[in-house]
Amino acid sequence: MRSKDNVDLICDIAELAGLFERSSSLGDFLDTATSIIAWHMKAAVCSIYLFDEDSQELVLRATQGLGPAAVGRVRLALGEGITGLALKELRPICEANGSRNPNFKYIPGILEEQYEAFLAVPILRGLARIGVLVAQDPEPNYFDENDVKALRAIAGQLATTIENANLLMSIHEASRLPQPPPKELPRFIKGKTVSEGIAQGKASIIGMIDDEALRAFDEDPTPRTLDDFHRALKETEDQLAELQKELEERLSDVASLIFNAHLLILKDEEFSGAIERMIVGGAPPQKAVSSVVHRYINLFAKSPNPRLREKVLDLKDLGHRLLLNLMSHDPALADYEGRIIIARELLPSDLLKLAAQRTAGLVLLSGSITSHVAILARSLRIPTVLVENDDLLEFAEDRNLLIDALQGTLFIEPEKDVLDSYTRLIDEQRRLEQLDPVVKSETYSADGVRVRLYANINLLSDIDHAVRLKAEGIGLYRSEFPFIVRDNFPSEEEQYRIYSRIVERLPGRPITLRTLDVGGDKALPYAHSTNEANPFLGLRAIRFSLRNRAIFAQQLRAMLRAGAEHPVRIMFPLISSLDDFTNACSIVRDCMAELEAEKIPHNSQPELGLMVELPSAIEMIDDLCREADFISIGTNDLIQYMLAVDRTNEEVSDLYQPYHPAVLRALHKIAEAAMRHGIDASICGDAAADPHMTAFLLGCGIRTFSVDARHIPAIQRTISETNIEEVRLTAAQAIRLNRIAEIAEYFGVRDGG
Ligand code: PEP
Ligand code: MG
Repeated sequence: MRSKDNVDLICDIAELAGLFERSSSLGDFLDTATSIIAWHMKAAVCSIYLFDEDSQELVLRATQGLGPAAVGRVRLALGEGITGLALKELRPICEANGSRNPNFKYIPGILEEQYEAFLAVPILRGLARIGVLVAQDPEPNYFDENDVKALRAIAGQLATTIENANLLMSIHEASRLPQPPPKELPRFIKGKTVSEGIAQGKASIIGMIDDEALRAFDEDPTPRTLDDFHRALKETEDQLAELQKELEERLSDVASLIFNAHLLILKDEEFSGAIERMIVGGAPPQKAVSSVVHRYINLFAKSPNPRLREKVLDLKDLGHRLLLNLMSHDPALADYEGRIIIARELLPSDLLKLAAQRTAGLVLLSGSITSHVAILARSLRIPTVLVENDDLLEFAEDRNLLIDALQGTLFIEPEKDVLDSYTRLIDEQRRLEQLDPVVKSETYSADGVRVRLYANINLLSDIDHAVRLKAEGIGLYRSEFPFIVRDNFPSEEEQYRIYSRIVERLPGRPITLRTLDVGGDKALPYAHSTNEANPFLGLRAIRFSLRNRAIFAQQLRAMLRAGAEHPVRIMFPLISSLDDFTNACSIVRDCMAELEAEKIPHNSQPELGLMVELPSAIEMIDDLCREADFISIGTNDLIQYMLAVDRTNEEVSDLYQPYHPAVLRALHKIAEAAMRHGIDASICGDAAADPHMTAFLLGCGIRTFSVDARHIPAIQRTISETNIEEVRLTAAQAIRLNRIAEIAEYFGVRDGG
């Protein structure tokens, strides 16, 4: 018997893995690997088969001993032959006489039948099937237990390298294959409503635009000149300045300098100079623009500074606009006006830029309906759906789309009759919007109990709707949006102006200003570390404010000043302990003392409250209620943290359950504690607007609801039909239920929520 050196072999494997980097090609790497293994095992044949996930076949990729012509040609289904069986059953197979195994597969032309001993070991990474390592020899019964162990060890060590090689090969192969014909998208896709409304228009895909999208402009056959470029530059600048002006009029609280990065790049001599030099040197202007824009995109995308990386979308947008202006004189073309935007993810500032351009609708491919981009889309009243279909990114550009963000449906190239019926619906909606809403200025239950309906406000523009729909106050102003869209903290004066405009629009009514709630899905690129592994568990909300006292104090001063003549309530988000709350209150008191000393008019008796959003706050609820003037339940976060389900992760959205018994019991407990201590408990998360929950919440003792203003009429109607005495009993019954489905049924939810 020839002596085998299995031990040496295993030792050499580390070197074998390094071989990948030294190999000139993937084939070369696999060839060398097979020849080294064959040599050490003193086996006549060593082969590597790799598993192709798409075709579910094993393909011979390298061999030492079988004819080279067999490489790429021999293909085995999972379970086919001894090799296929080893992979199917995820176990090594060692045969003394392979050809006698009933599973032996005769493959003509490779003369495999002359090799009797057969050892096949699957290459696995975890449970993922990567391929099979095969050793063969003419001498029957040539392989023993040690060989099996050795080959398993090799397969284990090579798995990652081989898997990477396999992936790379499949990429190269895919690029060599003729491109498949454009995929047919379905006629409609059922998704989720993020922001209600109906919109129709041609699709523009943004955010994922790869280099090709801009390069496509290179094919424009009309010759252009340096003068054309100068004209395009000027037009682009004018358009952006105009957009900025318009947006500041419409959304003064958040719009400041939103197109700043665009304008700065345009004015950057190096940017326009580089394009000019290329044009003077003979490059067609389109090419010059696209290549300089790409250079900048690459520079920005690779920057370690997250603020620069965030500007990549601005650059793409700018390149797009410059090129369109270069080729056409129609400024409308350069905008996304009337277009339906498809994006995988957007920053709040991107959304504002789209709103500035009067984008008709939005199709988001990731995120969730309680994410903050979704909240902003609702405030901007951009009909938005969330759908899971990545094919849209590839195949939907310029197609006609119709968004029904009432049902959460996206239609692709809708038929005429579908379009007609939606056009009628849009007209009807417009007509209804013109009518005075059927809503009373005070809300009572059927048995005459007074309930207050407040509005949630995200942008100043939301106040109009709150006033129109007779909100009795503001139960939640999310103060973070002006922070999120700027490149730096807004000053005390800027904040004071924003808060003043809110309180002035609803004089004498309670206005609840929530202090900064950033972090989580609302990171401030200029203030947050980018390496938080769990941003929702990181430096969020009140934690950020307590850690950044100067920023916090500025905001509190602005709030206190805006409340000089008005009843403001200051509310702290994400309070986890009595310490958080009392620390925050003591900073408010310091700010009041400062303002007093500076003789600046301010509110010296603001109500101070907190959001109940964390399990720890529920445990501490009695202590918190004893200290606070009011509490407000933020169910969006409360559900997330109680159930440990990321509110922005669509993958687990089925686990994000407002009807979870634990959530119901928590709500009941919080409301009872507030009643015991005689303080106001409101609810301001999305559950407040769920009509299925209204009776339960009333039954628990909640008497203040804060919702997006558009929900006020429906909630008012439900309350006016509810008898409080009755629902007190049903709420007590509901918290005894211990199944989500039972609760959903109890609440009369037909589809289980
Ligand atoms: C909540 O968490 O329910 C809430 C109202 O606050 P936000 O959605 O802004 O986190
Ligand atoms: Mg919250």
